[in-house]
Amino acid sequence: MSKIDWIQQEIDGLKSQGLYNNIRTIGSPQGAWLTVDGKKVLNFCSNNYLGLANHPALVAAAKKSLDEMGVGPAAVRSIAGTMTLHTELEKRLAQFKGVEAAITFQSGFTANLAIIPVLVGKEDVIFSDRLNHASIIDGARLSGAKIIPYEHNDVKSLEDQIKANLSQYRRALIITDGVFSMDGDIAPLPDIYEVAKKYDILLMVDDAHGEGVLGKGGRGIVDHFGLHGKVDVEVGTMSKAFGVVGGIVAGKAVIIEWLRQRGRPFLFSSAVTVPDAAACLAAVDLLEDSTQLVDKLWENAKYFKAEMKTLGFNTGVTETPITPVMLGEAPLAQQFSRELFDAGVFAMALGFPTVPQGKARIRVMISAAHAKDDLDKGLEAFKTVGKKLGVI
Ligand SMILES: *Cc1c(COP(=O)(O)O)cnc(C)c1O
Repeated sequence: MSKIDWIQQEIDGLKSQGLYNNIRTIGSPQGAWLTVDGKKVLNFCSNNYLGLANHPALVAAAKKSLDEMGVGPAAVRSIAGTMTLHTELEKRLAQFKGVEAAITFQSGFTANLAIIPVLVGKEDVIFSDRLNHASIIDGARLSGAKIIPYEHNDVKSLEDQIKANLSQYRRALIITDGVFSMDGDIAPLPDIYEVAKKYDILLMVDDAHGEGVLGKGGRGIVDHFGLHGKVDVEVGTMSKAFGVVGGIVAGKAVIIEWLRQRGRPFLFSSAVTVPDAAACLAAVDLLEDSTQLVDKLWENAKYFKAEMKTLGFNTGVTETPITPVMLGEAPLAQQFSRELFDAGVFAMALGFPTVPQGKARIRVMISAAHAKDDLDKGLEAFKTVGKKLGVI
C-alpha cells in the first residue's frame, strides 16, 4: 500500500455512488449557447443571469483598461495593489446598493472568509441558517466563534436558539444566504431583521445569487425588501450576474474601514486584475442605466418555471430564476443530465454533498441571454427525457 492509495479508493467510491464530479470544458464565450466538449449545446447551468459574461460593453471596458493600466495589480491591496479602478468600483458599488461604503475582494468566497472573522471571535456566537453556503461555513469556522445552526428559513428556530444561547457569549452575528442557490428560495429577511433588532445582534446576508437579480435593477435582497440601513453587512459577488469575478462587502463605513485594517484576504492576497475591475464597473453602468436585463431575466424565469410545472416536473420551492428539477437519487439525476446533453441541453446534475442525500436534482439557471425560442427548445428536451426516464 502506498500512502496515497486511500485517495484513489475515495475517488472510486464517489464514482460508484454517482457522486463523482464530471467536469465539462467550455470552448466558447459564455452565453445562451455554448460549445461544451466540442458540442454546441443550450446553456442551462451558468450563473450568467444577465448575459454580461460576454457583453460587448464589458469586453470593451476591459480592453480599454488593459491599454491604459496594464494587467495586474502586482501587490496586495494594503501595500501597493490598490489602483484607482478598485476604489472607483467600490465607490460605485456603494452608491448602487445605497450603503455607506463597500470593499471588493477576489471572490465572494474570500469576501466571506474576510468579513466573518473580523466581526466575531472565540468568545462569540454565530447563528447560521442550516443551508448556508460553504464559504459562510468556512468563514464562520475560521472565526473561531461557536456556530449554532438554525432550521432553514425558520425564524422561530432562530429565535429559540438565540434565547437558549445568547447570554453565554460576548457578541453575536446572524448570517443567512439571501437566495439559497440549490433551491432558489429567498431568506425571510424582514423577519430575521426584527429578531436581530430585538436582541441587538449584528445581521449579515450573503446575497451572491441576489446581486443583479433581486431588487430594483438588481440592487439585491436589501432593496427587494426595502431594508436599507437595517442590515449591517451585505456580502455579494461579481462572479454571477455581474458576469466577471470578485466579491463585495457593503454596509456601514466603519465596518468597511475595519475590513481594510483586518480582513486577511485583503491584507494577504492580491486584488482582482485591471480588466476584471474595469468590466465590473461597466456592469454597474449597465445596471444603473436600465432595468431591461433584469426585467428580461424575470420574464424568462417565470415562463420557464410555469411551463416546467405544466409538464409535471417538481421544481421545489424556488422564488427566483434558479429552477431545481427534483429527481431524488444521484444516479438518476446524472443519467438525466447525460440524456439532456445528448439532446443538446447542458444542465448539470447536483448531488451530495452539494445538496442533501436523496435530494439530487438538475438545476436549471435561467438567463436574460435566453431567447424564448431557446427556452422552448429546452422545455422540449426536458419533456422527452422526462418521459423516457419515467419522471413525468
Ligand atoms: C457563489 C456563492 C459564493 C461564492 O462566490 P464567488 O464569487 O464565486 O466566490 C458565495 N456565497 C454564496 C451564497 C454563493 O452562492
